Amino acid sequence: MQWPGAYCDTKHSCCYPKTGKPTADFSIHGLWPNHKDGSWPSNCDPDSVFDRSEISNLMGSLQKNWPSLSCPSSNGFRFWSHEWEKHGTCSESELDQHDYFASALKLKEKVNLLSTLKKAEIEPDDGFYSLDSIVKAIEAATGYVPGIECNKDSAGNSQLYQVYLCVDTSGSDIIECPILPRGRCASTVQFPKF
Ligand code: 5GP
Repeated sequence: MQWPGAYCDTKHSCCYPKTGKPTADFSIHGLWPNHKDGSWPSNCDPDSVFDRSEISNLMGSLQKNWPSLSCPSSNGFRFWSHEWEKHGTCSESELDQHDYFASALKLKEKVNLLSTLKKAEIEPDDGFYSLDSIVKAIEAATGYVPGIECNKDSAGNSQLYQVYLCVDTSGSDIIECPILPRGRCASTVQFPKF
């Protein structure tokens, strides 16, 4: 999941979706089948092209929870199509295209990152928080240690950008990550406003 404030305040900035500025919440970046050693397959089935009609019943929820912030401004289809074709096709024996998107949405709902962090008084207020306190708050709420990735704002501050959690093969339960991504965070990181 990505924090939109950290996607948008970097040197290259962002573009809001055509539907307007997303709500200030973490949004989905992707659901990525990985091998246990941390490597991951990609673009596994060139014959399985993204078909928007398969996710028509999820549209409202995808626009809200999985907006695309890259430029130029879009309605999300390019991002979803990229995520399906690059990553989703690699778990299509478990999750077809509809279930891939539905599972990601369900997982996001299960782990309400923003309210979890707020309960620990970690808020998107441009304040600085210890990386450890962020990890601990998410671990306390989910039972699992998350991977935290940072990027830099235009002033060069290390800031909270993405939160990684691992899920089982069925895409329904959170599990312990066999390997955590290297997150490039300083020991204290900013949680930017959005
Ligand atoms: P991935 O890391 O999932 O393989 O690729 C992400 C791709 O999706 C990048 O090419 C990026 O430009 C595009 N993209 C479109 N919208 C977004 C967004 O809101 N966040 C991120 N992280 N990437 C986006």
